[in-house]
Amino acid sequence: MNIHEHQGKEILSGYGVEIQRGYVANTPEEAVEVAKKLSEDTGTGWWVVKAQIHAGGRGKGGGVKLAKSLDDVKQLASEIIGMTLVTHQTGPEGKKVNKILIAEDVYYPGESETEEYYMSVLLNRETGRNTIMYSPDGGVDIETVAEKTPERIFKEEIDPRVGLQGFQMRRIAFNLGLSGMAFKQMTKFVNSLYNAYLGCDASMFEINPVLKTSDNKIIAVDAKVNLEDNALYRHKDYLAMRDLNEEDPTEVEASEAGLSFVKLDGNVGCMVNGAGLAMATMDIIKLSGGNPANFLDVGGTADAERVEKAFRMILKDPNVKAILVNIFGGIVRCDRVAQGVVDAYNNMGNIEVPIIVRLQGTNAEEAKVIIDESGLKVESAIVLQEAADKVKAVLA
Ligand code: GDP
Ligand code: MG
Repeated sequence: MNIHEHQGKEILSGYGVEIQRGYVANTPEEAVEVAKKLSEDTGTGWWVVKAQIHAGGRGKGGGVKLAKSLDDVKQLASEIIGMTLVTHQTGPEGKKVNKILIAEDVYYPGESETEEYYMSVLLNRETGRNTIMYSPDGGVDIETVAEKTPERIFKEEIDPRVGLQGFQMRRIAFNLGLSGMAFKQMTKFVNSLYNAYLGCDASMFEINPVLKTSDNKIIAVDAKVNLEDNALYRHKDYLAMRDLNEEDPTEVEASEAGLSFVKLDGNVGCMVNGAGLAMATMDIIKLSGGNPANFLDVGGTADAERVEKAFRMILKDPNVKAILVNIFGGIVRCDRVAQGVVDAYNNMGNIEVPIIVRLQGTNAEEAKVIIDESGLKVESAIVLQEAADKVKAVLA
């Protein structure tokens, strides 16, 4: 689950990570109110207005702006709220901005220069270890740094038996070129950041930039956080952070119905029980000359209601030229699924798209009879190759 910058910062702050402070606003008027409040809390005289969407690169796209007066705050807030923000992570269609974060200006002048660093914590799946990735070149796209100056990216792998060690925190501060107070602050920052990552079962924490202020504080200016879905049951309070506006509507609808659905751009819709079988079915579709229009796992209990829901979701896609239903009846009985398909078909009125149903396993023969005798435009198969050939014939 992805969360917003302000939510990520809230979590970080709870673990003792210094952050650029701010308040959320939904309207320009509210923005001015919270800007005043923020000045009372922090003493800031300038503010940053930051669009809250689940994508990076907001600054370049015009979603992060500096305000030097309350009038600026109001003006910028009214420009940014409601805008469609396009960044390299949103795709060309962009994302609508519904709320903003009014944050304190932390790039104030002082005794030393401000510096921007990059830091993320994530799991290295090759070594099975949590890894802190960091670079002295922050504030810019890390992909660009990786491509042009890969030697400027450092990694610290954490041994799960002993956890993050003091020498590792010091090595990070050293490689970032810090000394004195900033060095000490950085070791504390890294420690707290890593504790936050572990504590909330995140799959990624990306802080870009980590800022060294002109008075040598180390703070998180941005926060891109991905929480591990499979661990959310341990963090019920984080569930409230989910923002459905930021997710694909079809995928939200699917997850509410207990279906696992990913939209793709092919022409053959597929409905399968089990993720592995779904992958194999997509391969079969490819081999028979089609292209999968989706990944859809209806799960173990493919009853009429779920089958109907799944059909409706597949049929929303105008590119779909055929639907292949591939169900293995292990626990679920094939005749029940077949009845589900027939019921769903009848409930939905005229489905123009040809449907090929392959049911294998418990009561497969009975299931085939139900499909064949239904009088509907549904073809049945027991062997997968037969189903694939039928898909091929339909596409020809
Ligand atoms: P992103 O573009 O989505 O990654 O959003 P960030 O939160 O990283 O902000 C983008 C850029 O805005 C940063 O790299 C900074 O250069 C700038 N920025 C953020 N906060 C401040 C601030 O307090 N003052 C000033 N002057 N610039 C800021
Ligand atoms: Mg950033």
